[in-house]
Amino acid sequence: MSTAYLNGDYLPLEECKVSVLDRGFIFGDAVYELIPVYNSKPFYLQAHLMRLARSLEQTRINNPHTEDGWKQIINKLIETSGLEQLSVYLQVTRGVAKRDHAFPEDITPTVFAMTNSWPAVNTGMYKKGLTVITAEDMRWDRCDIKVTSLMANVMKKQQAAENNADEAIMIRDGSVLEGSATNVFIVKEGQVSTAPKNNLILPGIARDVVVEILNENNIPLFEQAATQAQLTDADEVWITSSTKECAPVTIVDGEPVGSGTPGELWQKVYDLYQQRKK
Ligand code: PLP
Repeated sequence: MSTAYLNGDYLPLEECKVSVLDRGFIFGDAVYELIPVYNSKPFYLQAHLMRLARSLEQTRINNPHTEDGWKQIINKLIETSGLEQLSVYLQVTRGVAKRDHAFPEDITPTVFAMTNSWPAVNTGMYKKGLTVITAEDMRWDRCDIKVTSLMANVMKKQQAAENNADEAIMIRDGSVLEGSATNVFIVKEGQVSTAPKNNLILPGIARDVVVEILNENNIPLFEQAATQAQLTDADEVWITSSTKECAPVTIVDGEPVGSGTPGELWQKVYDLYQQRKK
């Protein structure tokens, strides 16, 4: 039974209980993070903690811990997990209050964290490449905040699953923005593009890693959203996230991407991503 953290206590996951009046349960009034851990070391921890702080600030939930406080919780959970490759999930809800959309000022946030063993990236799947569908983006316009209210993302991912696809790529007003739980990169004639960081996408940490790799290797990158036609016409498509890292997409809406196999540039970026984990 794995050890989790709830409001100051470390206890078995099954024993973690929160009130049904918790606004995270009632309204999805909460933010979260998922941090990959390789060789017992959290990957890009600072970036995850900065994004968490921003999510809290934007939703006006009091940040219950300093950066050091967060690091202590994360490190203790890593230690007690006995695992070397894992993920740490953190969630902060606004807290418990009488049900009312408007929130009281003096409310104490609920802090929950758990670990999960790492489903090592399925390299077999990456040899063949992933399958995606496109779908209309029906989310609100603050997709830059990592909130737990993910109904639209859940419905889109389910639509993908029911169509035997690994991900749904969301299109808003003709622009290719991101997947239901991933960012999207497109390659055409050696040039890479991805949607810019604004209110319409989550600023993914794996996206940052890939952008760093591209910049360091002088591979041209344009932070500009592609059109659906450009997606269909791409030589390569990649999706990135902390769990998928950088994955090649070889089928979009039933049609092969480029040659229908993972591309050369993807392989290069993927290998450099793996090196960063050491
Ligand atoms: N976009 C969305 C909508 C997400 O939910 C996620 C991850 O959960 C990502 C992108 C990728 O973010 P990260 O690379 O930080 O895991």
